[in-house]
Amino acid sequence: MSSFLERTLSSYQRNEVITPFIEEALVKADWPDEYPVKVYNKERKFDGYFHPSSDPTAGELALYYKFHPDWRPLLQEERPTPTLEMTFQIGSAFHAIGESMMIHLGFTTREETEFPFRNEERMISGTTDIRTLTIPTGRKFIVDLKTCNQLPKEVSESYAIQLMIYQDNVPGAPDEMAIIFFEKAYPHKIRDFVVKKDEVALQRVYDKFSKVRVAIGKSDTSELRTCCNGPGTNEYLRCPARNFCERWAK
Ligand code: SF4
Repeated sequence: MSSFLERTLSSYQRNEVITPFIEEALVKADWPDEYPVKVYNKERKFDGYFHPSSDPTAGELALYYKFHPDWRPLLQEERPTPTLEMTFQIGSAFHAIGESMMIHLGFTTREETEFPFRNEERMISGTTDIRTLTIPTGRKFIVDLKTCNQLPKEVSESYAIQLMIYQDNVPGAPDEMAIIFFEKAYPHKIRDFVVKKDEVALQRVYDKFSKVRVAIGKSDTSELRTCCNGPGTNEYLRCPARNFCERWAK
């Protein structure tokens, strides 16, 4: 079992800035007999906007088919299965526990969590987990919470860009960004990563979204890059446009 001291020491050694405060607050908290945990099933419905959680890493042609009104109805979405739904619901519930704990421990408020935004100019929408989380030193972060089976050693590029897009588009978001991971399995470790803004990477995503929008406006895919290596590859097999994609049509 990880003792409180071991956990706190290791988070300091990893230069974490938020986790030591959370761990301290956890053991000092005056836990009430009950407190609300609100589970959100967000961002599952198509609203015609690019979403920071899924679209920055998608291929140009895949985005074209996803957003083009003529092709979208033909997409073959993944069929729901009990396992898929359970995975989603359990993940959402754990996520909600993390968010509710941050509120109860005084790091944020209900008004700052699940903060929706929409940028009409860039056609981006989403909901950020915590717009402002404040640690006892006064530092403020926009935070994305992630649940995981095992704590990662680093932040993936897709998670980092997701948070950067939130920070860049959510009105009133602090400059500093962090991702906090909660381990679903015992001993439920916590780890935070501070994310630095990468203007070049951010602009690359905005340029891709613009390029896709121009192509949709002209119904012309000629400028868009092919985004998989065709039948037999995982990317192809997972793509909802695989049955009609012009690049691989027989
Ligand atoms: S089948 Fe491949 S190339 Fe075509 S849209 Fe899907 S991922 Fe992109």
